[in-house]
Amino acid sequence: MFSRRKTRVITVGDVKVGGDNPICIESMTNTKTRDVAATVEQIKRLEDEGCEIIRVAVSDMKDAQAIPKIKENIRLPLIADIHFDYRLAIRSIENGADKVRINPGNIGSKDRILAVVDKAKERSIPIRIGVNAGSLEKDILERYGAITPEGLAESAIRSVRIVEDLGYENLIVSMKSSSAPLSIEANRILSTELDYPLHIGITESGTSYAGSIRSAVGIGTLLSMGIGDTIRVSLTGDPVDEIKCAKEILQGLELRKFGVNFVSCPTCGRTDVDLISIANKVEIELKKINKGITVAVMGCVVNGPGEAKDADIGIACGKGSGVIFKKGVLLRKVSEEDLASELLKEIESM
Ligand code: SF4
Repeated sequence: MFSRRKTRVITVGDVKVGGDNPICIESMTNTKTRDVAATVEQIKRLEDEGCEIIRVAVSDMKDAQAIPKIKENIRLPLIADIHFDYRLAIRSIENGADKVRINPGNIGSKDRILAVVDKAKERSIPIRIGVNAGSLEKDILERYGAITPEGLAESAIRSVRIVEDLGYENLIVSMKSSSAPLSIEANRILSTELDYPLHIGITESGTSYAGSIRSAVGIGTLLSMGIGDTIRVSLTGDPVDEIKCAKEILQGLELRKFGVNFVSCPTCGRTDVDLISIANKVEIELKKINKGITVAVMGCVVNGPGEAKDADIGIACGKGSGVIFKKGVLLRKVSEEDLASELLKEIESM
């Protein structure tokens, strides 16, 4: 539906990012990376939820040394996230990281960046150049007088050019801020200047509820403009929630399908059953079902039959009961207490 900006294809482990490949879902662990058992456990939970690429913070040599043990126990491609110390990037690559994320602006001299680039070249792994609003270069900040989209895009492009000048183009680029409008405009500018895949997200977007909404607004707007090849929802909380939110964003924009598409009405004064309980019960069970179908749970006869009929299967409720529709055909009337279980039985048989 949206025409996607054409980008190069960059391979991270066995995942292809950019081009016509599906928009990828990433997350980042919040365990201490050196704690291999806790990190592996979290990565496995993230993978079960649908995470496709995982990033871990490498803040010292102990974290870098943990990478081989973590990799032995997971299937996802692993990105080492490095700030300041180029030696951590080098050691992470030597230890099997499938990609490193660096901010050339805080890695230091060109020699140090070159050392990281040479190591990435040797192992043929991509580098993500990740620029954040919080680390904008002084000269850019002074020139624009504030953190602006133009300044952020310029900072990211400057970092990319440094690495390109060192002879490396196996790159993914990100430019993040906690402000959705700033991120949207900066990435829009970036997308007109670069054809590397863009990793998008709203950084430090908040706790689960507000952060999910802010991320959906920022990431969703960019995706609807055809911008973004891999996404990360950043939430203060269990990173598994990041994956749930990312999937809803992609599914909501009809860019990817993850199992059942669930439609339910908001309820109103016309509702004569406990629809909220029925919808919650059905939704929880649908998470376990991997079928590319649409299921509708509707509260009354006004919009209910229409939606329920349009869906692959659905219910439309009346007073203390409801009817099940399958592929537009009315199957039967069911009492309120049996509606959820009868609907689920029908779905299982599909
Ligand atoms: Fe109200 Fe019926 Fe619409 Fe649900 S489907 S919100 S009960 S009018």
